[in-house]
Amino acid sequence: MQIVAGISLKGIKPRVWDKNSPYYLPQLRAVMVSYAEFHQRPVLRRKVMKQGLREYLGIPEEVKLYLDNGAFYFISRGGEITTNDYEEFIQGAKPDWCPIPRQDELKHLEKCQCPACKIYGVAGLQENGSVGFWNRATHNLWTLLEEARLIEENLVAGTYKDWYVTHLDIKAFAFSLLNKLFNPF
Ligand SMILES: [Zn+2]
Repeated sequence: MQIVAGISLKGIKPRVWDKNSPYYLPQLRAVMVSYAEFHQRPVLRRKVMKQGLREYLGIPEEVKLYLDNGAFYFISRGGEITTNDYEEFIQGAKPDWCPIPRQDELKHLEKCQCPACKIYGVAGLQENGSVGFWNRATHNLWTLLEEARLIEENLVAGTYKDWYVTHLDIKAFAFSLLNKLFNPF
């Protein structure tokens, strides 16, 4: 299992990935940052596309750098991800991994079977304040638990090897492979 530390540009300290930081955690193998933070700041977005996300954040090579597509940021504001902007950003930012934007993110969420979505629907995920937070937190946790259940189920049944290929988003998978091919280190 891999622990991925979510980082925010506002809370970039204590730089736990940095050997020179007093808070350095050598066990940490991956960090994730959200595209939403760059989407809000066009000048910074350009800069990171030029420089690459890794260099901009000063993340060492041995720590994997993931980019989250910020789906919740966009959904909670009633919009969808601007796919072209996001894909353009990825090409310059070059994260080690990122989810591909789902054109049908809302349709996908409408079918969600978590308790929050079953009662309150997508509107519940978009709510402001505590209620929206509870719904999103429940949805995220349920999704992770469901994912863990499916992995476990397929491992026990001995079908994991075939299952995970069909389960992964093929485009995201292919992108990650391509990324490796072009940036092997
Ligand atoms: Zn849900």
